[in-house]
Amino acid sequence: MSTTIDPVCGMEVETETAQHMTEHDGTTHYFCGRGCKLDFEEEPERYLDPGYQPSGM
Ligand SMILES: [Zn+2]
Repeated sequence: MSTTIDPVCGMEVETETAQHMTEHDGTTHYFCGRGCKLDFEEEPERYLDPGYQPSGM
């Protein structure tokens, strides 16, 4: 089982069961929910910025 980090809120997401994902620049990003996916698609650069700190948790 592999997990990845939701770039928007910082939650761990299981890639095999993830229902919310999007591709950006050839990389697939997974999200805990629809809200995070929509936020990411609105401003992908903001969430991929190394200086961005997930606000969740
Ligand atoms: Zn999330």
